[in-house]
Amino acid sequence: LHVETQLGEGIAVPVDGNPAHYLISVMRVKPDDIVLLFDGRSGEWAARARDIRKRDLVLECVAQTKPPEQVPDFWLCCAPIRKGRIDLIAEKACELGVAKLQPVLTRRAVVDKLNLDRLHAHLVEAAEQCGRTALPDLGGMMKLDALLKDWPAGRHLFFADESGGAALDSTLRAHPGPAAFLVGPEGGFDPQERDAIRATPGAVPVSLGPRILRAETAALAATSAWMTINGD
Ligand code: SAM
Repeated sequence: LHVETQLGEGIAVPVDGNPAHYLISVMRVKPDDIVLLFDGRSGEWAARARDIRKRDLVLECVAQTKPPEQVPDFWLCCAPIRKGRIDLIAEKACELGVAKLQPVLTRRAVVDKLNLDRLHAHLVEAAEQCGRTALPDLGGMMKLDALLKDWPAGRHLFFADESGGAALDSTLRAHPGPAAFLVGPEGGFDPQERDAIRATPGAVPVSLGPRILRAETAALAATSAWMTINGD
């Protein structure tokens, strides 16, 4: 179960709302039962249930069961896309192991606002489901030019370019280390954006194959490929 409270030996975590309902009414947790908790930064903790009432309970941390997770240093930078599809990206990117999900506003984006709370909830749910204890960072919406202007030295910026780029497999193998993938919106990048990306130090245009993939397919195929090759 994900909680906001920072976990540690002896920390008592009050739980109410939906998580309490799930534990009390669905899982039928009894006093002294152990529930596994994570806060996204402190690994996983076994916590003992106490003070169980109708709608709330307290979980008291007794021992760390997993140390903080080492997350592969990979960011997925993608343009906002329609609701169900960006939700899918958040869920699957979390499962695949990304360190950060960074929404990037581009000129041809059909969507220019995102509900970050909803995306965060998808990240939490995916982490709970896949046993991940470190939550991905979720960046606020950033304009493409701002992202490129301050691109961190030493981080490869793989640019998913449907107009052509280097072969994926050999390029990823030739560029180990901190990385990000940049994937465009439904309408793709415009020519000026493409030039600006290519001119950014660290940028490496890559192809994801001969077919034009939907933005969410491209984002998840790129993430999966990077994780397979460099994600240990
Ligand atoms: N520009 C296209 C159009 O509207 O005709 C489609 C853009 S595609 C749906 C969305 C994004 O997915 C692209 O901006 C690119 O980053 C990525 N993408 C899709 N297919 C790709 C491919 N074969 N190779 C590299 N990137 C791809």
